[in-house]
Amino acid sequence: MSETYDVVVVGAGPAGYVCAIRAAQLGLRTACVESGSYEGGLGGTCLNWGCIPAKALLESAALAHNLRHHGARMGVKPVEVEYDFPAAVKRSRIITRKLTAGVKYLLGKNKVDILQGRGRLAGAGRVAVESDGETREVATRNVVFATGSVMNTFPGFELDGEKVIGSREALGLQQLPAKMAIVGAGFVGVEFADVFNAFGVDVTLIEALDTLVPFEDPDIGKALERSFRKRGIRNLTNTRVKHLDRDSSPMVLTVVNPDGSETAEETDLVLMAVGRRPVTENLGLEKNGVAVEDGFIRIDDWCRTNQPGVYAIGDVAGQPMLAHVGSHEGIVAAEHIAGVAKHPMTYGNIPSVGYCHPEVASIGMSVAQAEEAGHEVVTGKYPLGAHGRALTAESADGFVKVVADAKYGELLGVHMIGHNVSELVAEVGMARELEATLDEIVRHAHAHPSMAEAVMEAAFAALGRSIHM
Ligand code: FAD
Repeated sequence: MSETYDVVVVGAGPAGYVCAIRAAQLGLRTACVESGSYEGGLGGTCLNWGCIPAKALLESAALAHNLRHHGARMGVKPVEVEYDFPAAVKRSRIITRKLTAGVKYLLGKNKVDILQGRGRLAGAGRVAVESDGETREVATRNVVFATGSVMNTFPGFELDGEKVIGSREALGLQQLPAKMAIVGAGFVGVEFADVFNAFGVDVTLIEALDTLVPFEDPDIGKALERSFRKRGIRNLTNTRVKHLDRDSSPMVLTVVNPDGSETAEETDLVLMAVGRRPVTENLGLEKNGVAVEDGFIRIDDWCRTNQPGVYAIGDVAGQPMLAHVGSHEGIVAAEHIAGVAKHPMTYGNIPSVGYCHPEVASIGMSVAQAEEAGHEVVTGKYPLGAHGRALTAESADGFVKVVADAKYGELLGVHMIGHNVSELVAEVGMARELEATLDEIVRHAHAHPSMAEAVMEAAFAALGRSIHM
């Protein structure tokens, strides 16, 4: 055991590599251990088999959809749109490679040692790194677990990589099926429904809860459902998958309908998008007394576990399992270790975004949460059907809804569906960080024409001073 580090980060996803960079910037001797697992590698799930390649395919999908369905109307007449999904995949892999190479460069630039292998806590202040059957130990004052998560599934729906796949395989498909069932209509499920529908696949989206994107404002789920239906995506909500006959061709998927009856659905491929589970196995957690709760490593608001000098960040440390949350936790943990931390994690102002078309984004409280927190609530809703910028973008489905405190006008939450709302959520997030009120939102002359005006219009609506409604 030769090296002694100040920090060893286990996992180089958006949580781990950001933590390692920040720790090194603060003068801490830092190493980052990365096993390069099936879904990971430098950049983790996010850069390799998650956020980035999915968004690259969604851009290809938007182009395919717009050319085919809106091109002629917009004055660009495609002769015949031909789909080449492998080319779209190839482009997504090029982007991914560029970004993961960037992570390697940044770690090197900041003098973070990259230790290739599988890391685990071998005892107080010791991390074992296993690679190619060999194990070496490094000494460290602090360990940060950032081991992320992997795809989940149900019994009977085990992933076989061919007939039943997860997001990892979906992002690399070389041949598209005629019919696909997507189980789960959270963000990952609706994003894939968007992609494969745009590339001509007959998509059925199956969700056990009441609406698509069921953890969002219910109006958003309903609006997305309408929009998807117009595009030809079948949405089966309140519907559970029960059984899959993989041996028949096409396969037969038995679903339980909302009224309890059962239907046999034919499908060529099943894509499971039913969430992810944290990677906590073989990390030496139990042996070293690191507390795990509901499957996640338990942390406080400084990302500390119950053991001194042991931190956890990102998907392995609990909900919300989002890249930007992990990165933020990485910074908090690094600064805490260096003794310069000013702000603990706060989870009440985290943006949540689905990049399907139309996009979905929200931040802060829903009406129910605001009422539960004791606020007298006022809301303002601005539909995009007659919004200038939305019409010019040929994308007028959706709305922006603000939730505010009736007494002081404090902005409590915003829930949106529509063109480019993934970008609008930053304004709202910043407004909430600064405890802005509705009056302050409308005081700012938002650029015209822009989607951002829709936030201002919704704020005007909540103040009872609508201009464009
Ligand atoms: P990960 O990114 O999972 O990284 C963990 C890393 O640790 C991996 O590289 C793994 O190889 C490594 N590792 C694991 N165990 C060990 C070990 N013992 N030793 C060494 N290394 C180890 N989130 C968003 O915010 N926005 C999105 O648009 C978005 N889109 C997504 C789309 C898809 C299809 C999927 C699947 C996920 C998406 N996510 C999105 C979620 C996002 O990818 C995760 O929240 C994020 O990657 C979590 O970061 P992390 O660093 O905690 O873990």
